[in-house]
Amino acid sequence: MNQNYNSPSPRRVNERLRRRRRRTAAIVIFLLAAVLVALLAVYVGLLIRNRPDNPNGDSQTTPAPTVTEGAPADTTAPDDTTAAPETTAAPETTAAPVITYTTINMTRDAITQGDLVLVNASFPYTFPANEKHLTTIYGNKSRGYQIGSAQDKLDTDALAAWNKAADAFLAETGDGSLLLTNNGGYRSREAQETLYQKRVASVGEAEAAKYVALPGNSEHHTGLAFDLAVYRDGKTYTLGSDELYNWIPQNLPRYGFVLRYPADKVNITGISYEEWHFRYVGIPHAVYMTENNLCLEEYLNTLRAYQADGQHLSVTSDGVEYEIWYVPVAEGDVTPIAVPNGVTYSISGNNMDGFVVTLSRPAADAQQ
Ligand SMILES: [Zn+2]
Repeated sequence: MNQNYNSPSPRRVNERLRRRRRRTAAIVIFLLAAVLVALLAVYVGLLIRNRPDNPNGDSQTTPAPTVTEGAPADTTAPDDTTAAPETTAAPETTAAPVITYTTINMTRDAITQGDLVLVNASFPYTFPANEKHLTTIYGNKSRGYQIGSAQDKLDTDALAAWNKAADAFLAETGDGSLLLTNNGGYRSREAQETLYQKRVASVGEAEAAKYVALPGNSEHHTGLAFDLAVYRDGKTYTLGSDELYNWIPQNLPRYGFVLRYPADKVNITGISYEEWHFRYVGIPHAVYMTENNLCLEEYLNTLRAYQADGQHLSVTSDGVEYEIWYVPVAEGDVTPIAVPNGVTYSISGNNMDGFVVTLSRPAADAQQ
């Protein structure tokens, strides 16, 4: 069987063929695997290039690469790259809340009351039958100032705001010599009459009219206005006597007060410059009026452009956002005013022809 050694038997040939096929298959599998690995490498490479820290500007739209989160500490991306996806990937989870409203019915005579009433030579004050909004200052004042009379009163909200402002002044300057003058707060019609006649007797009617309003037309009737001076070592000085008191007109708006009769508004207010006379109108109104150099007459006129169905005026002060609009008084006896539920609001008459609505929200809430 020599032949068997030289020429392989059919069985051996089959086996060799089978072996060759197996080798070919192995090579093919190896090559396929190699191609797969190469493809995977390219894919990973692309992933890494598209990460949000890539400075090619499209990071805002790239989804957060979750692959880095489980990676060991030494291979994770630096802090600034992990922070970026948090802001972009945050989903809008809060659907727009459904706003419901409550209708407040304001009576016609209510336009004569509130923090924003205009009282001047053209618009007299209507004294309410019950003046329970007034509080005696003595016994209810803060440490920040002195008073000229134990009988003087102010509107309760105005007094609370002034107490805060005066304490802030004392804390910042260490000066406790501010004086709320005698008869410098609320005045009844009779008190204004007495004051007016006294001034007429002293300087004549024309001169008196520059500073003292006719009885019924004084802002002091509202309890929202007061006069300030300085009382030190037994003597009285004006606020202008020391630049220390510049703090007052500069900072009082943040507490809701305006310098009511500025020098450059005499032709509108009809009253000469009074550096001592301040008026409570409420924080957003005082801030807006001061920043935009508007006296109360001008401001109330400006508000007519902001009505319920249009754009509202927006004012932010000390972390609170305010929304303001004007509502003209309705034809009938009642003016319905819709205010959103769950929001702090106030409504004031303008003592002319309508109401001013003021909403307030924490500014952080408003930004969300
Ligand atoms: Zn005054």
